[in-house]
This record gives sequence, C-alpha cells and structure tokens, in this order.
Amino acid sequence: MEAVASELETAVRIVGDSRTYLCMDLRFMTRAVMSMEISVSEGEGPCTFSENRLHFRSGTVLSQFKEEPNSITRQIAHMILHLVLGHSRGYRNEMDGLAEDIIVEHALDVLDSQHTATFGSEGRTYYFNRIMKRAGAPTVELIADELSRSSEWQISVYSELFSPDVHPALGTDEDVVWKEISQQMKVEIEGFSRNLGDRSSMLLEILRIRNRRRTDHRRFLRNFMTSSERVRVDPDNFDPAYYVLGLERYGNIPLIDPVEYSDVPVMEEFVIAVDTSGSTSGELVHYFMDEVYSIMEQCGMCKDTEIHVIQCDDRIRDDKVIRNREDLRGFLDGMRLRGGEGTDFRPVFQYVDGLLSERRMKRPKGLIYLTDGMGVYPGNGPDYPVAFMFVDDRYRDRSVPGWAMKVIVGRDEATQNPT
Ligand SMILES: [Zn+2]
Repeated sequence: MEAVASELETAVRIVGDSRTYLCMDLRFMTRAVMSMEISVSEGEGPCTFSENRLHFRSGTVLSQFKEEPNSITRQIAHMILHLVLGHSRGYRNEMDGLAEDIIVEHALDVLDSQHTATFGSEGRTYYFNRIMKRAGAPTVELIADELSRSSEWQISVYSELFSPDVHPALGTDEDVVWKEISQQMKVEIEGFSRNLGDRSSMLLEILRIRNRRRTDHRRFLRNFMTSSERVRVDPDNFDPAYYVLGLERYGNIPLIDPVEYSDVPVMEEFVIAVDTSGSTSGELVHYFMDEVYSIMEQCGMCKDTEIHVIQCDDRIRDDKVIRNREDLRGFLDGMRLRGGEGTDFRPVFQYVDGLLSERRMKRPKGLIYLTDGMGVYPGNGPDYPVAFMFVDDRYRDRSVPGWAMKVIVGRDEATQNPT
C-alpha cells in the first residue's frame, strides 16, 4: 500500500509543478489555469474534465511524464484552450472533435514554450498546413468539413498525431464564465504580444474568431447610416481614424460618441455600393438590404432620405434610388444582381463625384461598400466617410486604405436570422 501512496504523491507533485510551469511559461494563461481545479486519483486512464475540474489518474501521469516530461503541462494547456475556445458545446458531427484537437495542438506547437513543447511538432505542423491550404481558416467548421473529405487512412494519421482526448462538456453558465476568461486572455496576449512575437499569432487568430461579436455589425450599420436630426455630425470634422481605432482595438465595436446620436436617428443621403463581381451572392446582398430595411423601420425619414444602391464590378451597372420603405421592398423583391467582371472600387467614387457635381446629391452621410473580394481602391478618399464591409467566413483580415473603415462579417452571421 505504501508504494501506491507514493505513486499518488509523486503524481500530485508532477501535476502541481506542471501547472506552475504553465503559468510561468504562458503568463496570459494564469487566470484560466487558476479558474480550473485539478485533481489526481489512483489508477490509470486519460485526464477528464467535469464540473470545472481537470482530473488525472496517477499511474498514467507517471508513465506519460517518464516518456515526455512536458506531457502533463501540455495536457493542462490543451484543456484550457478547449475551454477558452468554446470547444465544449457538443459536436455537429464526429469530425468536429478532431478538428478542435488539431486547432488546439497547432496553437500550442506555434507557442512552443519551454514546458509545453512536445515531440512531433514538425509532423503536426506539416499536416496542419496541408489541411489549412484547403480549409482556409482555423475554424472548427471549416477544418471539420475538410476532414470529412479525407480518407480513412488520413484520419487515422491525424488522430494519431493530434491525439484526441475526452472533451469537456460545459453547461451554459460555465460557458459564459469561460467566454469571459477567453476575452480577457485575448486582451492580455494583445498586450504581451511584443514579448511573444509571432508565437502568439495563431492563438490570437483563433481567440479573435471566438470573441467575434455577432451583432456588432448591425449596431455599426445603424450608427453609420443615420444621424440625429438635432445634433448633426459635421462631415468635415468626422474622423474616420476614430472609427478604425475602435474597430481594431475592440474587435468590431466602433467608438461612437452617443451624444452625436441622441434623439431619433434620421436617414439622409447614403450610398450603398454592391460589388457584383464574382461571389458576392444574392443571398448576402439580400440579407444586408434586409438589415437596411430594419434600420429604416426604426429610424425616421425626412425629405432628404435618399439611398443610392449602386451595383458595380469594374464599371457601374445599376443605380437605384430608395426614398422610403416601399422603394426598398420593391428593390428587394425585384433584385437582380448585374455584373460579374473584375473588382474595381474606383468607378463608384467617380460616379458619386459626378452626382455631387451635378447637384443630384448634396452631402452623403456615408458610403458603405459591400464586397467579398479584393479590388482596386482610389488613391485618395472622398470627403464623406467610407466603410468597406467584407463578407468573409474565413475571417481573413483585409487591408483598406487609411481613409476607410472596415467591417468583416462572417457568412454564418450574414445568413442567420437577424434577432
Ligand atoms: Zn482535445
């Protein structure tokens, strides 16, 4: 009996040390690590997570530690990442679990810290890059889709390399707690990223995907498209950098002074440009225009309400002027997208310049460009504010000129029903 007791004691010490090493290596993980209880009991078996406790079995800890001294630290870090990334809400299909392990293990391989690095990262990195080439972005859905197209043999290779474990299943309350921890972790890594350099890039990317706020683009649109009747925003004093700062620093939350938007917001002149080249699908444009419709329902109209919906690929294809909800309904019902050539953003700005010089437009409140592609930007920005709204379920970051704002909307957000 004495031998068993000392095995447990040794395992407890190994697990305790591993936890300390993890916090020392990756300080941004400390709060997450401390938010989770860790226990060890006698016997063999994989570590499991339930009721906010990560549970190890002493025999398995000792043999794993002997084989790979970093293995326990790695397992704790692995579970922490599942929790902060929200990998705890059940699977859509059987490939989701493996996809989650691939994402987590790759993030740890890239972090490459002293006590979490484990043998085999070259092989894992090779396969990860191969999967990513086809999946496009490190989201569970995209990787699982890619895995479902792989052969049984490939799946067995991936399972071996990325060693799927028993994944946590959290209740809604717990999930809320871990979501909050994940937001804090993201902010902390952003603050620390100079120390971590490129090693944090993968983790930041997946944390940003996790922490996207689904309704922000609606708020953004509403604020961008409307202005208060009494307190008018002077376009000459409008500072696009202020918006961009808000968008970049706080994910998708534009920093907008509520004072500027007091009272009932009113819609005035506004331009919506739709890139009809390639794959900006009718469904997405429909969704977007539905959002505009609901903004029109919530906001006041005035005699100046005039929304130009301009379709453009590499030239102007259509310009519909919408003055009221009926116009917009009519537009939505009869909407046909015209175009399909290459993307050039410049014709829209030239066209609006023309409208302004002909006095067919007075002073647009702004221009929003709905696109999912790369295009040619004008060298200089216009006097009115401009936002490019990218529809991209791969969450690739886009570079826009300094005079423009950007909003990235995922396809799943764009196709879900507005709440
Ligand atoms: Zn796992």
